[in-house]
Amino acid sequence: MRSVNKNNFEQLLIIYRTIHSPSFVETKYLFVTGGVVSSLGKGIISSSLACLLKARGYRVTIQKFDPYINIDPGTLNPYEHGECYVTVDGHEADLDLGHYERFTNIQTTRANNVTTGRIYQSVIDKERRGDYLGKTVQIVPHITDEIKRAVKQLGRTGEFDFVITEIGGVVGDIESLPFLEAVRQLRWELGQNSLCVHLTYVPYIAAAKELKTKPTQHSVKKLQELGIQPDVLVLRTEHPINTEVRRKIALFCNVAPDAVFQSIDVPTIYEVPLKMHEQHLDEVVLRKTGVTPEGEPHMAPWLHFLDKLHAATKPVTIGLVGKYVELQDAYKSINESLFQAATYNDRKLILKYIHSEKLNEQNVDELLSPLDGVLVAPGFGQRGIEGKFVALKWAREHDVPTLGICLGMQCMVIEFARDVLGMADANSTEMDPSTTHNVIDLMEEQKSISNMGGTMRLGAYECQLRPDSLAAKAYGQTIISERHRHRFEFNDDYRKTFEEAGMSCVGENPRTKLVEVVEIPGKRWFVGTQYHPEYSSTVLNPNPLFLSFVSAAISYADEKTEKTVESEK
Ligand code: GLN
Repeated sequence: MRSVNKNNFEQLLIIYRTIHSPSFVETKYLFVTGGVVSSLGKGIISSSLACLLKARGYRVTIQKFDPYINIDPGTLNPYEHGECYVTVDGHEADLDLGHYERFTNIQTTRANNVTTGRIYQSVIDKERRGDYLGKTVQIVPHITDEIKRAVKQLGRTGEFDFVITEIGGVVGDIESLPFLEAVRQLRWELGQNSLCVHLTYVPYIAAAKELKTKPTQHSVKKLQELGIQPDVLVLRTEHPINTEVRRKIALFCNVAPDAVFQSIDVPTIYEVPLKMHEQHLDEVVLRKTGVTPEGEPHMAPWLHFLDKLHAATKPVTIGLVGKYVELQDAYKSINESLFQAATYNDRKLILKYIHSEKLNEQNVDELLSPLDGVLVAPGFGQRGIEGKFVALKWAREHDVPTLGICLGMQCMVIEFARDVLGMADANSTEMDPSTTHNVIDLMEEQKSISNMGGTMRLGAYECQLRPDSLAAKAYGQTIISERHRHRFEFNDDYRKTFEEAGMSCVGENPRTKLVEVVEIPGKRWFVGTQYHPEYSSTVLNPNPLFLSFVSAAISYADEKTEKTVESEK
């Protein structure tokens, strides 16, 4: 299985590191906190640091602590926190875990994302069991102990040299207080085996033509009031930070000037590891945690990706049809997977968001004609669904490369049933429970479920592909493993009817026989997956199905260009 394969070079690097750093016996804990404003990109900084340490041969993992009360983000509307990411072990996680995996090529699990809700749930369960032996259960020490236990859980496995813990929210939030108190205690207990990286924002006041350090000073003061002295400061900025500003911040914040880094806006987040390395962030972190840096991180594959990215000028235009298109983060993993696939195909991705609620038979031609490929997004509920059918019918009839993911695949099936099989009311029972043609239906085991949280079909499942399918060709193998997040399925009663009419069920779960992939052979590239290929696509290991989809879109674009040239002759 592709996701399990480890890069041999990475393995060798780890062996080399283990032999040459025998003193490296204790796990180091790196905390990443944020101040001034939210959305500074703590996840990107954490991921970049992890990427650099991994490229130095260390065994690294990253975890995110989210201060909200939800047990996990699975029940959250994308408008709240963007995409819900899914780990291989079926945890519905914060989208930052997607960044972690994309930057490090390391798979995360349930242990990598903990919320206030989970901490409290665990403490309350213990209290009900009588584990606290009659004590009054309090935020300190019981909640903070539970947080500390969760922080160290990954370190205790002995599998990691560095555990990076990102604390969600902004310093000063009421909700973050127990987490920061736990960090204070851990810093005290772990000494040099721990470190705090604090990320702040340095605004530029255009009228005064000045970068302002005060918000950073206040944010660090706030952290200090909580008993945490940051060791490293990363300053987000839109303008270069000069030595004077750096020194000033170092002086006011008790941080060495060489431990103050700037994180300036860059055209792509994938340049951030290099920008951090140029300023020696990885070396400073190693030194501060008592490790002598040796050599340089092995960034050649990463640089190869960036070289391709910078060299790619010819565009490939993909349309993403979904109902959350006004929200950048709602389809984060899909955007990144397409971006990676375009880059490896030496093209510059032009991503056009098409609002499925606004798409109709009158405007479909105008909106979809300029596209080289159509991607119909996952989702839940009725809103925007008719626009997805319009897009799919148009794409099928115009033979445009099309990828349907999860609900997108279900819509492919429904649209085919309505238009080709003549089942006018075909639907998913999610949208119409009384449809006479329930081509997409609730899984048997889902029928008795009443709790919404964490009860979908979640996580990685094996899928067997027909050897002659487009999907098998894309993956280069017939047994794959990909991640799921859904309650509804292709209704097997209709399989034969679909097959006979030209929509093939080319991928199925080898154990349950559930249909996982459909295709229309004879079309350029028309594939729907019940699973989410976007969750497993990383910078160094892009998802093969996305690579194949984008490659088909490029061929189609080239064909269109040739035709135009011909007709102009
Ligand atoms: N709503 C559909 C289901 O539950 C699809 C979910 C999705 O697209 N992730 O089966």
